[in-house]
Formats: sequence, C-alpha cells, structure tokens
Amino acid sequence: MGHLTQEQYGLYKTLLESTKAIPWKLNWITKEFEYIGPQIETLLGWQQDSWKTAQDWIDRIHLDERQATANLCISQSDCGIDHEADYRALTASGGYVWVRDVVHIIRENGVTTALVGFIFDISERKKMEDVLLRLNKQLEALSFHDSLTGIANRRMYDESIRVAWAQAQQYRTPLSLAIFDVDHFKNYNDEYGHAAGDDCLCKVAEALNSCAAMRSTDLLARYGGEEFVLIMPTTRGEEAVEIAETCRRLVANQRIPHPKSEVADIVTVSIGINTIVPSENDTLAAFFETADQKLYQAKRKGRNRLEFVDAS
Ligand code: GH3
Ligand code: MG
Ligand code: MG
Repeated sequence: MGHLTQEQYGLYKTLLESTKAIPWKLNWITKEFEYIGPQIETLLGWQQDSWKTAQDWIDRIHLDERQATANLCISQSDCGIDHEADYRALTASGGYVWVRDVVHIIRENGVTTALVGFIFDISERKKMEDVLLRLNKQLEALSFHDSLTGIANRRMYDESIRVAWAQAQQYRTPLSLAIFDVDHFKNYNDEYGHAAGDDCLCKVAEALNSCAAMRSTDLLARYGGEEFVLIMPTTRGEEAVEIAETCRRLVANQRIPHPKSEVADIVTVSIGINTIVPSENDTLAAFFETADQKLYQAKRKGRNRLEFVDAS
C-alpha cells in the first residue's frame, strides 16, 4: 500500500476511532506508545495521553494476571508471534474491566519493531461466562446421575427409596434393599492409584447394573465412595437374595485383578440385604441400618458373600 492521501487518512482515523475496539500502537524499540484510540478514556477513564510506555499498560493490569500477561506478551512479541490475552484492566476510579487484547507484531529484518493491536471490552461476555459456570454447578448439584459411573446417584436413591417405602407401606408389599461394598478397595487404590480405582468403580457399577437393569422397577445407585445400593420394590427376601447373588457373581466374573485383596486375587463385593413389609412403626432409617449391619456381618464372615435378614 502506498502513502495515504489526506482524505484517506481522515477516513481511516474516523473508522479507527469510532469502533468499539480500541486501537493502539507501541514502539517495541523504545517501548513507548505511538498511538492509542481516544475510546480508551470512555472504557477505563484514563486520559489518552496518560498511556506513555509499556509500563503504564503493565501497571494497569490486575495483579492476579499482571505477571503472566506481561511475560506472555513480551516473549511472544520478541519472537514475532501474534497473540492475544484476556485480563482485567484497572480503571481510573479503581475498578476493573475484563478486556481482550489482540496483538499483531511488526518486524523489520527479523527484529520486532512495533506492536499494533485492538483492545476489546469483554466484560459482558465474562459476566455471561460466570453465570453459565454458576448454572452448570447448580445443574450438577441438581443432577440425579453419578458423574463417574453414570448410574443413579445418592440424591436419586434418597428420592426413590422414599417413594418405594411409602408404596410398600400403603399396599403392604415387601420391599428389599441390598447394599454392596467393594472388598479391600483401599488396598486397590494403594496398589494401582486413584485413577485406576475410579475405572474399577465404573466396571463394578457396570456389572451390577447389567443385573439390576433386568427389572425395570429396580434402582441401582452409587450411594457414595465404593458403596452401591439396589432398591427392589415388591420383592420378597428369597428373590432379593437371588438377584444380589447374581450381582455378586457378575462382579467376580469381570475378573478385575486385585492382588492385594486378601479375599481373592480379583475384585469382589460384599452385600447386606434387608426385606420388610413396613408398618406404621417402622422407619426407613432403621431399615437401612439393618441392611448395613448385614453388610458388615458379610465383611466379618470373610467378604465376597452376602448376608440377609427377612423381617417381612
Ligand atoms: P472393606 O473390605 O472393609 O470394605 O475394605 P475397604 O478398604 O474397601 O474399606 P474402606 O471403607 O476402609 O475403604 C474404602 C476406600 O474406598 C477408601 C477410599 O480411598 C476409596 N474410595 C472411596 N471413594 C472412592 C472413589 O470415588 N474413587 C476411588 N478411586 N476410591 C474411592
Ligand atoms: Mg466402604
Ligand atoms: Mg470397601
């Protein structure tokens, strides 16, 4: 492009100074601003002529990202790499505005001589991001799925067992509950690490679910950690024992190596089962507690087995 006429110059200046993005140019030899758009005063409150050197720019970056932003910009500029950075810019009144600085490098004979760029106000977008982030967290908290295994979570269990209990009470039908606990799982983590432990939990959940999914009225949930629960409405004790035993075998059949198990050389589960036709005097808490006691009995008796009580 040749030299600009006075008219062209006027046009470019008007264009540059009427955009929302704020143009600037920095001499990279002297580290002095050669230009910054007057819009900067509207955005940040600092007067146009208060931007003298690169240091003025650095000083007006939020402390949290000042060093990182300055380092990135300096190293990229020296290497001649175009780049961009998001940071909070200090306003004259002491507040901060989120901006995105998009930087183009001008080089002569392999040496960076100047930077030109645009500063964009991204505060609205940042606010939206914060809102989205918060909403996502809330959604996750409201979710009924366990994010690791994909099966129902504790919240879903709590809701479902209340409904199943009320129905069993109303229609005088048996309700069965099985609690599964992975045997010597702490040792598994110690042996293979937490990430492998997580993978193992997914496989256990999958095995348990392949059995639980056989009946649409049953609900398998991850109760917490390495403990799972299976709600079996309108299910008598013998039936529940049969289903739980199938679950136990399915986990063992996965043959997940577990040399530190002390029970077997593979991953196994212990199970506690309780069945009840709840009367007015029975409580859900006591029902669960009894199933849990059975689980610990199964542990004491050697693990990789089930224990049950049938109060129906
Ligand atoms: P027991 O046979 O008596 O059940 O022995 P255990 O080692 O399984 O029992 P304990 O309750 O002492 O240990 C459970 C371990 O499960 C402790 C914890 O490190 C691990 N754990 C709990 N939740 C998770 C998880 O989400 N991921 C992984 N990898 N490990 C978990
Ligand atoms: Mg446990
Ligand atoms: Mg355990």
